[in-house]
Amino acid sequence: MDDRGNILYLVVPCYNEEEVLEHAAQVMREKLRRLEREGKISVKSKIMFVNDGSRDDTWKIISALCRKDAAFSGICFSRNYGHQSAILSGMLEAAKHADMVVTVDADLQQDIEALDKFIECYKNGCEIVYGIRNNRDTDGFFKKLTATAFYKLMGLLGCNVMQNHADYRLLSKAALQALMEYKEVNLFLRGLIPTMGFPSDVVYFDVKKREAGHSKYTLKKMLTLAVDGITSMSTRPLRLITVLGFLVSVFSIIMIIVCLVDWLIGRNVQGYTTTLVVSLLMGGLTIFSLGVVGEYVGKIYLETKARPRYIIEAMIWKEDET
Ligand code: UDP
Ligand code: MG
Repeated sequence: MDDRGNILYLVVPCYNEEEVLEHAAQVMREKLRRLEREGKISVKSKIMFVNDGSRDDTWKIISALCRKDAAFSGICFSRNYGHQSAILSGMLEAAKHADMVVTVDADLQQDIEALDKFIECYKNGCEIVYGIRNNRDTDGFFKKLTATAFYKLMGLLGCNVMQNHADYRLLSKAALQALMEYKEVNLFLRGLIPTMGFPSDVVYFDVKKREAGHSKYTLKKMLTLAVDGITSMSTRPLRLITVLGFLVSVFSIIMIIVCLVDWLIGRNVQGYTTTLVVSLLMGGLTIFSLGVVGEYVGKIYLETKARPRYIIEAMIWKEDET
């Protein structure tokens, strides 16, 4: 399948990445040059940075890079919309010019040398190629723990996310066009893309230490991602509430019978503890269930408003000089 177009766009989300950005841009540019020389990608290939509302000099650095070299281009959000929105906008913009798009983090943790394998899979006819990390050695204990808990929970709740795959992936033009058809405001890419079908493959890569700066994924951002992922991919929590309600009802009926029998045979009122435990437990379960239902109602509310997923404040893209 050598007739496939070979314009590659690297989409790089950046949130307060001034420490690492210039170096990362250099490394990525060098990699593209090498791929171009080897004839694996077109010379029209580009690196597209998405500035996700950074408060530092990230956008200044991106603009300067774009001025110097037409192989760089940039999108600037009006505020911080989060990593998922950043890669989504980058992919959708890149789809206008590219034959394949690879999303990769700005911190060079995801081995850029794996690009050759991604492109090879694409040339062999894959429309989606997932990057899967070989190791978690560079992660701290807390990150490992939360990541494992996340994948376990997602699995239990009926949402098929690929283990150890974190948005380092290639999408072809066809896959990107399919992605554009999803009109939901709240797109959880990691869950959604595997449900699109298409011939796909995986590429394994080593995770390295962050080159500079620190992780931008705070605990709050990780929790939001987890809740968004679950509520946008699965309604199993709602089903679980129904099951829970059913079990509690069965238990209540048994308890009512036991109480009536007690009363009939004249056994005396004791059971302050039982009453308290039951009402506390029921209170907790009720509020919790209401909360879960509320999460879904909130999602529906946001979806019906259909507000823009992100606002682009500025964009730099230059036609190649060639
Ligand atoms: N990022 C972003 N918006 C955010 C948080 C992160 O665009 O709100 C970007 C960040 O600049 C980086 C990528 O997402 O390129 C992954 O973030 P990070 O490396 O901090 O996460 P980690 O590797 O620690 O999971
Ligand atoms: Mg990182």
